[in-house]
Amino acid sequence: MPQYDIIVVGLGVTGLAALAELARRGVRALGIERHAVGHDLGSSHGETRMIRLGYFEHPSYVPLLRRAYALWRELDTVANTRLLHITGIAEMGRPDSDIVAGTLAASRMHRLPHEVLDAAQAMRRFPAFRLPQDFVCVVQPDGGFVAAEAAMTTFAAQARTHGADILSHAEVQSVKPGNGGVQVATSRGDVDAKAVIVAAGPWVTQLVRGLPLRVTRQVMTWFEARQPELFVQGRFPVFLLASRHGNHYGFPSLDGRGVKIAKHHHFDEAVDPDRVERAISADDEAAVRIALSEFIPAADGPLAAAKTCLYTVTPDHDFIVDRLPDAPNIVVASACSGHGFKFAPVLGEVLADLATKGEAQHDISRFRLGRAG
Ligand SMILES: Cc1cc2nc3c(=O)[nH]c(=O)nc-3n(C[C@H](O)[C@H](O)[C@H](O)COP(=O)(O)OP(=O)(O)OC[C@H]3O[C@@H](n4cnc5c(N)ncnc54)[C@H](O)[C@@H]3O)c2cc1C
Repeated sequence: MPQYDIIVVGLGVTGLAALAELARRGVRALGIERHAVGHDLGSSHGETRMIRLGYFEHPSYVPLLRRAYALWRELDTVANTRLLHITGIAEMGRPDSDIVAGTLAASRMHRLPHEVLDAAQAMRRFPAFRLPQDFVCVVQPDGGFVAAEAAMTTFAAQARTHGADILSHAEVQSVKPGNGGVQVATSRGDVDAKAVIVAAGPWVTQLVRGLPLRVTRQVMTWFEARQPELFVQGRFPVFLLASRHGNHYGFPSLDGRGVKIAKHHHFDEAVDPDRVERAISADDEAAVRIALSEFIPAADGPLAAAKTCLYTVTPDHDFIVDRLPDAPNIVVASACSGHGFKFAPVLGEVLADLATKGEAQHDISRFRLGRAG
């Protein structure tokens, strides 16, 4: 008999959420992680992750987002913590930009609360911004952020509380069908289960071959604000800004000084996740500062901190969440393309369903393997 019902390979936010959900359901589950849980070499670190309901990427994400919001709130209650912070989100750009047009389409289709401000109104509401006259600003009151490291710690604690085992500092070398289940070879010995969820983030293609994924280097930067009072939570929103310099995003200051601002996709530079350059260059900083100096000059102070991070990107930027066609007891989850964190608790439900029942309660048809795109 297999030692576990389900093994989860990779304990970033996706694997941890799945492990916590499996354990909550009373499933005998083991999570295996190559590094320490909560490390900063993958995709899930860096203080904050944006969450929003009117989803510019596609309106069909909205039902999953509603469930994700409900589950983040539930987790905050159950774990007596505060992971979800509602600050409102301001999405700015020309009316035909992907962010503004896509957010409005999703918000209108799903009748979500939102306001559309012209540039002057937006600058009165959020005085840190300097916007050209032809920009508009869509404000969604439900937007905000999730505390990233705290979310991982909380999922791990929930998993342990409900009886899951966690094996850290163990590298999974292979995941193969066998013995009526799935065999997992690790640097600390072999272990088997009825089914396995592979949530190995940027390293997933080392364990599951043939997935259409690119890993890209990303940079997160924190700047010392020149006028810190403009960036405090309550006065400064989470934001997305589409301009000729690309799509930038940022968060209110959590320590009263450093404002986190970054460029979505950064240089879109494909990298090997084991050999990525972790040092931050002048070009990295300049790619963010160009938008700061033009649109948010009050944040254009000295660089306070910077970190690299990795996106794992599909060709259509939708996730991959599916059972392998030739080994249905192996479930693969690549929920990134730069926007997967906010979905972690609902993907935890989806992955637990796929691994234990073979199908999910939520509509995940966008995430099928082998789709066109
Ligand atoms: C800079 C940046 C900004 C982002 N902003 C947002 C945002 O605002 N909102 C949002 O919703 N999303 C955002 N995202 C995306 C989101 O963070 C990711 O979708 C999410 O963190 C992916 O988590 P993961 O668990 O799939 O991957 P990871 O966090 O990379 O976890 C994978 C884990 O698997 C482990 N692993 C890999 N191989 C093995 C092996 N062989 N054996 C054992 N363990 C292994 C790794 O060590 C790692 O811990 C952002 C991502 C980045 C990088």
